[in-house]
Amino acid sequence: MTREENSAAQANGTAHFDAVIVGAGFAGMYMLHRLRALGLSVRVFETGDGVGGTWYWNRYPGARCDVESLEYQYGFSDDIQREWNWTERYAAQPEILRYQNYVADKLNLRKDIQFSTRVTSADYDARSGEWTVETDRGDRVQTRFCIMATGCLSAARVPDFPGVEDFDGETYHTGAWPHEGVDFTGKRVGVIGTGSSGVQSIPIIAEQAKHLTVFQRTANFTLPAGNRPLSKEEITASKETLLTDRQHARETAGGLICFEYNEALAEEMTPEAREKELRERWTQGGFAFLGSYGDIMATKEANDIAADFARAQMRSVIKDPAIVDILLPDDHPVGVKRLCLDTHYLETFNLPHVDIVDVRANPIERITKSGIVSGGREYEVDVIVFATGFDAMTGAILGVDITGRDGMKLRDKWAAGPRTYLGLGSAGFPNLFFITGPGSPSVLSNMIVSIEQHVDWITDCLSRLTSGNVRSIEATPDAEDEWVAHVNELASETLYPQANSWYMGANIPGKPRVFMPYTGGVNVYGEKLAEVAAADYEGFRLDA
Ligand code: FAD
Ligand code: NAP
Repeated sequence: MTREENSAAQANGTAHFDAVIVGAGFAGMYMLHRLRALGLSVRVFETGDGVGGTWYWNRYPGARCDVESLEYQYGFSDDIQREWNWTERYAAQPEILRYQNYVADKLNLRKDIQFSTRVTSADYDARSGEWTVETDRGDRVQTRFCIMATGCLSAARVPDFPGVEDFDGETYHTGAWPHEGVDFTGKRVGVIGTGSSGVQSIPIIAEQAKHLTVFQRTANFTLPAGNRPLSKEEITASKETLLTDRQHARETAGGLICFEYNEALAEEMTPEAREKELRERWTQGGFAFLGSYGDIMATKEANDIAADFARAQMRSVIKDPAIVDILLPDDHPVGVKRLCLDTHYLETFNLPHVDIVDVRANPIERITKSGIVSGGREYEVDVIVFATGFDAMTGAILGVDITGRDGMKLRDKWAAGPRTYLGLGSAGFPNLFFITGPGSPSVLSNMIVSIEQHVDWITDCLSRLTSGNVRSIEATPDAEDEWVAHVNELASETLYPQANSWYMGANIPGKPRVFMPYTGGVNVYGEKLAEVAAADYEGFRLDA
């Protein structure tokens, strides 16, 4: 923006920033830190009244990470890693949120974040090369770069159940939990949904509730998390190797080093060796199980062996055979829906005051003043907990009315599914970036590793643009088409598309069924990002 344009904008009441970042979770916070260090003026807008994103919103009982705390933390600062001490193998939500607030304080981030403000629209003006960003608080700011750090799992969703507004009791969504908490003591509670949020919250809600009814549509594979306190020795040892560990994590497919993938194929192993591998990894807890052999996510035969093993473990915990039939997953390969890690989830269904209703067999028909109707029967409850998930990966991005070149709406462009180059940008939308956007490894990885990978790449890119007199960067349609085809082709070589998962958009009626994340791994993807940057942003058009 020229000085004259800037003065005119200020006279109009329109502030100007070099960059606007939407969202103040792990991604927005780190992006702000990096761009400030480049000397750019930056404004972050965040709907919530504090930092943290996922960990600000998801305060339901039992919420904790399922990537181990020692890996589920920022890796960019030796200082931060040395100062912060995690207490458990999988940190609970309050501890993660405390950590994020500690980082915000340490880096003095809040001064550039406007809280309680939702970005409603972003419009590109090709003449000025600027984006105009508007908010629900009446802000109107201009910016050269617009960065969507809006999160893959931040658009919480309550399904369209008829009668939901008639319910007389309390309702909560796990992804928008009240800050003051919820006391279920003496209440009849209905929980709808048995994904990770349901699996984590159900055992704790059951401890308090007078009666708990769980409404399950899809039975999920779930395995014991094996959570425990971290020892002083583990914490001290981890600090010796912090930076090399993070580098190593970036060189793995999942951005994780707490386990290694066994590369042998299932058929190359004896049944005894396979059983041993599966058992050891099951006992270890966490996602190690999915690394038991090389083709677990690639062929049905290999996957069936692991799925049978998992079902046998799950069956051994449940007492009532009728409940076994409902709780054991049998309609999708193991791992193609996000594997759930639990603490006493299955055991909860052995309790006399806990029931499960199979809403695959009898879908929820409606919600009444006093309960939930399924299969013609009303289940009376005082409280309904919607553990029903998110409009994942695209929901929060498309929640902003984004208009690019020639009036093109991102919503229209993505009507048949998201189209990006590298998950970072989309043709027709210059200087607009997505952090962990669709088409990148994102939700198939340790998200903080993927967030840092994107933030570092975007920072280098903006440094190149601002120091090299380049006005804009934009994915070319050809590069984007090729990338979308590549992402689809890789996914089709796996079992992932075989489940009705949120990875596919299948949890939202009417959402296009497209496998959204990149399945090639953080390591391979990182090499591609580096090659693109080294070739002066090949596949992007740079305009002076
Ligand atoms: P978020 O943390 O989602 O932050 C996005 C922010 O953008 C939100 O605060 C939101 O309010 C804001 N925002 C969105 N739209 C707008 C708008 N229009 N205007 C203003 N602000 C806006 N990943 C893992 O790797 N390991 C885990 O163990 C793990 N556990 C998880 C547990 C739960 C309960 C959930 C829901 C997700 C979990 N994830 C996990 C994924 C998690 O989302 C990421 O790890 C990470 O926290 C994402 O950070 P982010 O900054 O990209 O997005
Ligand atoms: P989710 O995995 O999408 O689960 C939503 C649940 O609600 C599913 O059981 C779903 O059934 C059910 N549901 C949705 N619509 C329904 C309807 N109309 N009728 C009946 N049931 C319905 O959402 P989530 O549990 O919030 O988890 C989302 C993701 O966030 C996870 O996969 C994970 O990546 C992350 N997460 C991680 C953790 C962790 O352990 N750290 C905790 C929570 C979340 P269907 O399966 O049939 O669609």
